[in-house]
Amino acid sequence: MRRKIVAGNWKMNMNLQDGVALAKELNETLKVEKLRCGVVICTPFIHLASIASFLDQEIIELGAENCADKESGAYTGEVSAEMVRSTGAHYVIIGHSERREYYHETPEILKEKVRLALKQDLKVIFCIGESLAEREAGRQNEVVKAELEGSVFDLTAEDFAKIIIAYEPIWAIGTGKTATADQAQEIHAYIRSTIADRYGKKVAEETTILYGGSCKAGNAPELFGKPDIDGGLIGGASLKVADFKGIIDAWK
Ligand code: PEP
Repeated sequence: MRRKIVAGNWKMNMNLQDGVALAKELNETLKVEKLRCGVVICTPFIHLASIASFLDQEIIELGAENCADKESGAYTGEVSAEMVRSTGAHYVIIGHSERREYYHETPEILKEKVRLALKQDLKVIFCIGESLAEREAGRQNEVVKAELEGSVFDLTAEDFAKIIIAYEPIWAIGTGKTATADQAQEIHAYIRSTIADRYGKKVAEETTILYGGSCKAGNAPELFGKPDIDGGLIGGASLKVADFKGIIDAWK
């Protein structure tokens, strides 16, 4: 059975004190719950070491939102996969549409980031998804396939098994517009079939594919009720414990 996961992506929110307080509150809240899914919080780099020092990672795992495409050296301001791993984090988000768009991260750069993250035993949450114009032109399948082929389909099956895919239609991120559960299921099934074509049915069946884009407590049960949706990557609604827990509870 593939793993169900609800992962938070804090983005560039929360100073150190507020972030530590949020993670503590989440830890206290979830430790008395019987969870039916894995929970991950991906935070800015500056929070990682502080949060790792108290977070019970049997309950909530910790991840970064990015890592460098270089191993080490004279790259001022960058944070390597090894540095991320050394904080106690176990996950990293790679390929988020905001990084592709605002920081011009190409498929080749992302491929290198994935390679370096896996080398450090980090689990990768690899984001793919089409823009509004691409969806309106009916090109969404072509776009997500190209994103997979461009950055992760050269991995061995063993390494690909460490990848979690997050399908995030760009037009639904932070906009309040969610893909309908049927729209999301349709493309998740397509993504799984593309993985099956490349790695075989067994690997495809075991790959966790998350949905991201204005996912909230109100729409999560319908989305997570679909056979190919294995949880969510959550932006805005991961910044308040009650909102995030409401989504986690969709698995109950
Ligand atoms: C995201 O950016 O990964 C995301 C899903 O954001 P939001 O939930 O705010 O749409």
